[in-house]
Amino acid sequence: MSERHAPIVKSQPVRTLHWPDEQATQRWAGALAAHLTEWPGGRDACIELRGDLGAGKTTFVRHLLRACGVRGRIKSPTYAVVEPHQGELDGQPWPIWHFDFYRFSDPREWEDAGFRDIFAGPGLKLMEWPDKVAGQLPPPDWVIAIEAEDESSRRVRVLAGTERGSAWLESAHQALWLEGPHAL
Ligand code: ADP
Ligand code: MG
Repeated sequence: MSERHAPIVKSQPVRTLHWPDEQATQRWAGALAAHLTEWPGGRDACIELRGDLGAGKTTFVRHLLRACGVRGRIKSPTYAVVEPHQGELDGQPWPIWHFDFYRFSDPREWEDAGFRDIFAGPGLKLMEWPDKVAGQLPPPDWVIAIEAEDESSRRVRVLAGTERGSAWLESAHQALWLEGPHAL
């Protein structure tokens, strides 16, 4: 008699959001920044931003950087691939790395540019166009997938890719998903 096993389906935690306008995007970025400083490992989070050109990935990152204490002009890393920033956490510098892999073409660049060291080191890592370097990035704690509904409104899914990322999704339940004008 053959034994039948039920397939093991590990459901991926996911939450949905709605940002009706850019102010809502900014508010949610602010709330997330506050949480990142509190969650275990949150200050070293790896977060992928996904979505079409113009979805709002860079816009969201800029609001998040500001909320993390980054001052001065915020350059986009489109040409440099990575832009290092310094946030502020408990009065201490908080390293934050903003990647945009859109123009990344040579896999050797990964080693040469020292990206391996950045990902092994401390600090918040935010990645646009992670699919351009698929297989080289560590698994992200979160994937934030942004979809434009019209000019100002965005539908957003947040997926966890690590154990701690799943824990953050759970612990953020009240403050980030259910309450406030950004909730669905
Ligand atoms: P991406 O990095 O995904 O290519 P950008 O952030 O560069 O996209 O561009 C998004 C554009 O959409 C910006 O001009 C931004 O002002 C606009 N926008 C309008 N509403 C929103 C919103 N709710 N969230 C984010 N961006 C928005
Ligand atoms: Mg962008």
